[in-house]
Amino acid sequence: SKRGRLDRFVSRRLNVSCNQVRVMLAKSQVRVDGKVAKDRDLLIDEFAHICVDEHILQDNQPRYVMLHKPIGVVSATRDDQHKTVIDCLGINYVEKGLASSLEEGLEKGMSADENDLHIVGRLDLNTSGLVLLTNDGRWSKALMSPENKVEKVYRVTLQNPLTQDYIDAFANGMYFAYEDITTLPVKLEIQSEYVAMVTLMEGRYHQIKRMFGRFRNPVLALHRLSVGHIVLEPSLLVGQSRRLSQAEVQL
Ligand code: URA
Repeated sequence: SKRGRLDRFVSRRLNVSCNQVRVMLAKSQVRVDGKVAKDRDLLIDEFAHICVDEHILQDNQPRYVMLHKPIGVVSATRDDQHKTVIDCLGINYVEKGLASSLEEGLEKGMSADENDLHIVGRLDLNTSGLVLLTNDGRWSKALMSPENKVEKVYRVTLQNPLTQDYIDAFANGMYFAYEDITTLPVKLEIQSEYVAMVTLMEGRYHQIKRMFGRFRNPVLALHRLSVGHIVLEPSLLVGQSRRLSQAEVQL
């Protein structure tokens, strides 16, 4: 997303002309990811490390976090009424001994490196499970892009018994008049009388609740288990989070 030319970046950051940047490049004053840069049209993104002489102009680390979202926590970075997923990250700093108070934890969670985290695919207030957070806009866009049809798996607990009829109805898609769309095929597996595994390739507003609503079957509990190949780690307790591994970040 945030890709741009090196000379324009340096010019903007140092408030100098692109001609002056050309001179800097010729004098080997500019380094990108530790190497002397010569090309003024080099394309850089927000995670390129950029120095001019000993001055660091940009030093952003990409961050990828999985959170076991509790019920009652809102998928937003700020909220007046409810605890947010970012608040959860702050609490985690305290639990891991990386901060001595909640305030310090929140400080660490919000400021410094993680002030720019955004949510990759929201969950409803009363939905629990896997929420991904990152500062890498290209990564989150790829995961959320409808064309990529990334599978999201949910465990759904219902008020009324499930029947085979649900499987076809979900697979055929449902028409939502409000948005004037038909949902993509949804895989539904019956686990037990009241529990289904549902796999979505998109995320329409309250999609799962609305689809079961067609059967007048209220959703009692909704829990996200995975997004693509990223599976909520079973050892993560409710409210806990951890960084993603390299393999998990790989798309
Ligand atoms: N479908 C819903 O209804 N809610 C969610 O949080 C996710 C999918």
